[in-house]
Amino acid sequence: MVELKGKGVSGGIAIGKLAFVKRDEISVKRTRIENTQKEMERFETAKEISKEQLQSLYEKAVKEVGESSAQIFAIHQALMDDPDYNDSVDNIIHSQCLNAEYAVAVTSDNFADMFAAMEDEYMRERAADIRDISNRIMRNLQQSQEEQSQTEEKHIICADDLAPSETVQMDKSKVLAFCTKFGSSNSHTAILARTMNLPAVIGLGEELLAEYNGKEAIVDGSTGTIYIEPEQKMLEEMRRQQQAQEHRKELLKELKGKENVTLNGQKIKVFANVGGLSDIGQVLANDAGGIGLFRSEFLYLESSDYPSEETQFSTYRQILEKMAGKKVIIRTLDIGADKQIDYFHLDKEENPALGFRAIRICLTRPEIFKTQLRALYRASVYGNLGIMFPMIISLEEIHKIKQVVSEVKEELKAEGLPLKEDVELGIMIETPAAVMVSDMLAKEVDFFSVGTNDLTQYTLAIDRQNPKLESFCDTHHPALLRMIEFAADNAHKHGAWIGICGELGGDLELTEQFLAMGIDELSVSPSLVLPLREKIRSTDMTTYETAEKKLRLNS
Ligand code: PEP
Ligand code: MG
Repeated sequence: MVELKGKGVSGGIAIGKLAFVKRDEISVKRTRIENTQKEMERFETAKEISKEQLQSLYEKAVKEVGESSAQIFAIHQALMDDPDYNDSVDNIIHSQCLNAEYAVAVTSDNFADMFAAMEDEYMRERAADIRDISNRIMRNLQQSQEEQSQTEEKHIICADDLAPSETVQMDKSKVLAFCTKFGSSNSHTAILARTMNLPAVIGLGEELLAEYNGKEAIVDGSTGTIYIEPEQKMLEEMRRQQQAQEHRKELLKELKGKENVTLNGQKIKVFANVGGLSDIGQVLANDAGGIGLFRSEFLYLESSDYPSEETQFSTYRQILEKMAGKKVIIRTLDIGADKQIDYFHLDKEENPALGFRAIRICLTRPEIFKTQLRALYRASVYGNLGIMFPMIISLEEIHKIKQVVSEVKEELKAEGLPLKEDVELGIMIETPAAVMVSDMLAKEVDFFSVGTNDLTQYTLAIDRQNPKLESFCDTHHPALLRMIEFAADNAHKHGAWIGICGELGGDLELTEQFLAMGIDELSVSPSLVLPLREKIRSTDMTTYETAEKKLRLNS
């Protein structure tokens, strides 16, 4: 048995086989083949798929960045039809009886080397294009084979790290738990694991060897331990613990239908955070009072192209209908930083967390923003919608947002489409700037929702993605708690309500402090709704000394 220690970021125990994520790195085997004609057909099919992908990239880029920047995709399509390139592939397949992947890889190397050695700078740059088109064809060649080899078994997913787009695209019905070499507690992958209620351990380091692939293992998300090829005794102990956890979950179910009220009668709303339609079942099963954060960007991350107004409308409508009149707060697109989407073609940035993201993208590319707002307002008549805007730093942004919102409403009305006039509009408080001007912002909106994940990183200057900084990241830092209290006071003074939708909202060690600050709503992973309700119901705020003392607000 091998025991590895990391950091548990989502509790629970999973027992099953380890499966390492296969990445796009293309490892090409040299295989002899019998039927060269069939192999050529595989190559031609992969090439056609590649050209179709490039065509849709081209069309999208023309719309967004203009003809001249889109040209590269047209060049790539033309390169795929280059007779010399195709002759070379054909020759290797037919005369050497070798597989298409290998033929493309060799051709790619030869042609790229040839271009790289040319005098002309323009021609030298074509070396990268050759590699690019060849990689695309190879990926498409491998795709069909990988699809065939998928199994129905559930696995413990292992990786160096996982990008949100990878996590979100996984077939969740086949995932038992997540284990990564790197990663950080507040990364979106950790958040997704908590939303899905799956155990997750990060920071296992280089000892998480690829050779463990396929081996039986236990993941204990509470202690951050994984046991590979566990001994019988350990398996039995972990199965006992698993049952005890299930039993506790059953007991918590007795709290369903009960109020979130302290022993001395203080009430607070408990909502849930979700990433997609598939999480709504968990929201209802755990009796959340509403949805405090729907991360709409996952709709975009799951998709290979911009989700249309109709697609978005259908999703928002279904959420609102399923929530049957309970509050549903949908956050507008919050991409950038770690949430990268290929088809947005965003530039690589030195400091992506401080970069072109969230509302900055929406205000720069209003066609994207308007499509989403149209879908949201059209869906508004199907339930109790609130719309929330991420990464706000200034009053001017709110004015600009309101301008776009009123244009969208007018357009819909002119088209005769029904909408709700009084949809609550709120903003995320996740930058120190927003906290500091929260008095001004509160006058303009209906509600605030504190995004403690980003507010922590921007206040403490600690990149939430950087695993090396875990030990420096004090999520109870008084600077952060003071910020939340400051924003709460300003919200209440100026007629707005305030919730917390960052991960700190579910930190039971802080529940009393949040109650003392008068926070109106806490929005947490669905599986935390009932433990939080239990905590609230056992709290007596009359015996709570003073908020300041516990908060370490005063030294
Ligand atoms: C936050 O920053 O706290 C938040 C809720 O948003 P996200 O984690 O999606 O950035
Ligand atoms: Mg955020």
